[in-house]
Amino acid sequence: MGENLYIAQAIVNNNSLHTDKIFDYSIPEDLQGVVAKGMRVMVPFGIGNNRLEAYILNIKKEEKVTYKLKDILYPLDDKPILTETQIKMILWLKNKYLCRYIEAIHCFLPSGIVNKEKKIVELIEKDWQKVISRNSKNQIEVLRILEDLGGKITLEKLFGKLSFKNFQSTLKILEEKNIIKIDYSISSRIKIQTQQYAQLTLKDDEVDTTIASLKNAKRQKEILLFLKAHKECAVKELLDILKVTRSSLNALISKGYITIIDKEHKRDPFKDIVFKDFPKLVPNSQQKKVIDVITNYIKEEKAHTFLLHGITGSGKTEIYLQLMEQVLKKDKQGIILVPEIALTPQTVERFYGRFGEGIAVLHSNLSDGERFDEWRKITEGKVNIAIGARSAIFAPFKNLGMVIIDEEHENTYKSEINPKYHAIEVANYRSKEEGAIVVLGSATPSIESYYKGEQKEVSLFTLTKRATASDLPEVEIIDMRKELDNGNKSILSHTLFSAIQQNLEVNKQTILFLNRRGFATFVSCRQCGYVVKCKHCDIAMTHHKNMKNLQCHYCGDKIQEPETCPSCSSSNINYFGAGTQRIESLINTYFPKAIIERMDMDSTIVKGSHQRILEKFKKGKIDILVGTQMISKGLDFPNVTLVGVISADASLNLPDFRASEKTFQLVTQVAGRAGRGLDKGRVILQTYNPEHYSIYTAANHDFESFYKEELLLRKEFIYPPFVQLINICFTGKNEKEVYIVSEKITNNIKYILQAKGYSQYNEIVFGPNPAIISKINEKFRYQILLKNHEVPYHLLRSIVKYLLLDKRQKFIPSTITVSIDIDPLYIM
Ligand code: ADP
Ligand code: ZN
Ligand code: ZN
Repeated sequence: MGENLYIAQAIVNNNSLHTDKIFDYSIPEDLQGVVAKGMRVMVPFGIGNNRLEAYILNIKKEEKVTYKLKDILYPLDDKPILTETQIKMILWLKNKYLCRYIEAIHCFLPSGIVNKEKKIVELIEKDWQKVISRNSKNQIEVLRILEDLGGKITLEKLFGKLSFKNFQSTLKILEEKNIIKIDYSISSRIKIQTQQYAQLTLKDDEVDTTIASLKNAKRQKEILLFLKAHKECAVKELLDILKVTRSSLNALISKGYITIIDKEHKRDPFKDIVFKDFPKLVPNSQQKKVIDVITNYIKEEKAHTFLLHGITGSGKTEIYLQLMEQVLKKDKQGIILVPEIALTPQTVERFYGRFGEGIAVLHSNLSDGERFDEWRKITEGKVNIAIGARSAIFAPFKNLGMVIIDEEHENTYKSEINPKYHAIEVANYRSKEEGAIVVLGSATPSIESYYKGEQKEVSLFTLTKRATASDLPEVEIIDMRKELDNGNKSILSHTLFSAIQQNLEVNKQTILFLNRRGFATFVSCRQCGYVVKCKHCDIAMTHHKNMKNLQCHYCGDKIQEPETCPSCSSSNINYFGAGTQRIESLINTYFPKAIIERMDMDSTIVKGSHQRILEKFKKGKIDILVGTQMISKGLDFPNVTLVGVISADASLNLPDFRASEKTFQLVTQVAGRAGRGLDKGRVILQTYNPEHYSIYTAANHDFESFYKEELLLRKEFIYPPFVQLINICFTGKNEKEVYIVSEKITNNIKYILQAKGYSQYNEIVFGPNPAIISKINEKFRYQILLKNHEVPYHLLRSIVKYLLLDKRQKFIPSTITVSIDIDPLYIM
């Protein structure tokens, strides 16, 4: 009949690998013009026609269709929750990182909104019979069902009970007439929160006479007086502050003196912190030059990426703040990424202090509800600034002007789950698509970023001076081998010990840094050399003294601390090295009068404990802070004049081509925590490898020399930035099967390469090899590493896509898991 058929191309929301494709659904007539690209709809799926949520990525029109399509059931959104731009980015993510569609989609939505959300239809006009005409049969049917079921049901349930199909328009009419309300008051966990507030209904001059009339009702009088002074107060707080019961309040309500109202309460993750005003500083000449150049790009809305290499304390944050001001002036929005919010409260503080409210904070410690609120603030255009960890790069701003990535070299910017994106890559993509600028900042840029600066792919700025009067601290290298020769077996060198003592005497603060927990506290036998390893994961287990056990930090397995060697039964079993806990207790015995706190993963599991420890430290209530990587980042405490690095070596010994880079970064970052105030800082670096270039260049604050040295090695051994890597990891319970499958894939890759004329595949394909962590949770791991050495990168990627995505079912049995990592940061 020449009729047009509208087809929605959608991605269903489920976890099966077989459903990772675009499915076509026809849009029934009554939903045409109602459903749109970017909305979620309910669809029947599979043989059983189970209902699944689906995301419409495209709508197309076809004239004749010879095949039968299933109909969309009903929409889940009134307006698209994914924009055109985001849909385009989803396709880009999928293609670049070889992830599944649904995984890419999930990047754009707060975790709470996905899956758990349901639409609720609520009857709000009890006397609807008076308003609805008797002819509106459909409307009456809806309202009857609602009434029968208690006035509030899910849209899904309503849909199942209705005798007619075209219910969308019916609901719309009822909603417009204010008879029903449709809301996203979704799962019990995520709700738009409201809170009860008590308000006076009395006028101020009536309060005193009323109080006089209350005679013996002492509690009620107190409430009235309090509300007179505070206008209104959250009921919960009121009862709490005045220590009164709800019945006193109720008495006042029934007398009509006060009233209760519901106010929307946006959960604010930073509600307990008071932000001090952070006034604009006059930029110094180095800062000014950067601000001026980048401001031109902001004004002209030119997409471009800048790398800001500025020593610690050079005032990068002030540059970010002043650039943000320019972005806001253009009515645009900005995203600031920090490695981890809880570890860098100062950045958030400064942005709040400069720009006031108007900021959304997104990070991994938010509850689903909090995240939902922050996300809504952005989509509703209530804020123009979003600060967050990695995932904030997806903040749904409509007019993005700038992305700042502070400490751009940090590993946390690379996602460890699919899509395994790097925030810098996503930022560059958004920059080009949305006409925004990208500012990367670091005291220790990644080799890759700095190389791009050298190649003029990004514009490089260097800040060489500290913004305050302070100088970079002096770094002393202590050769721990000599300490041992001199009979000092303690973890502290004589130099560090006496430096701490001196610092305590003058009431200055000390930071003691340990390179990552668990690396050192392994248990080993002095007699036979046996090291206690996890039997599931093949990595050394960590000693936890307070729990008297050993733990595996990959699978969580725990065993009792052994008294004799499990291998030779010698009682000469020793608890070697030092975790943060052990250092804390050792330091306690060395300096019994000092106040010592520890900050690491274990001491900060409880939400908000980072902030608590840092607050305490800031107030000078801690003399010595012992910690891991966590304390190496963006902290700025003027009273810290001594930083001790217990051992700089742990990261040097990691089996990773970036080990030197990571060591240089860590040492530099930690050293940068000292001497931020007026007093000169001192850094003492203990190491067994004093002649290693990453140690002495870091001690000299000499990034350039480090970079040159490192780049030579990268070139010689063919590593990034000279090539791109792809790592493929195969996991399964049966080691032989894992090996056979990974070998088959390896051979296929080689075969295809050869067919395409690249016979030198031995320099392209490495493996399969057992992974460094060869077993996790009873599952064996093998990996293949690919390098685009003299072969186009896109060819390698398309081979991987062909074998492991398109033809997955042919090559990979369901007992084997495959994980693809594009540009991996770790190969473990
Ligand atoms: P970075 O992030 O580069 O390590 P910060 O932004 O933390 O450095 O700045 C270090 C200190 O210098 C902060 O206390 C900051 O307030 C101060 N500062 C920055 N710029 C200026 C300026 N132009 N004048 C005075 N003080 C400044
Ligand atoms: Zn032994
Ligand atoms: Zn384990």
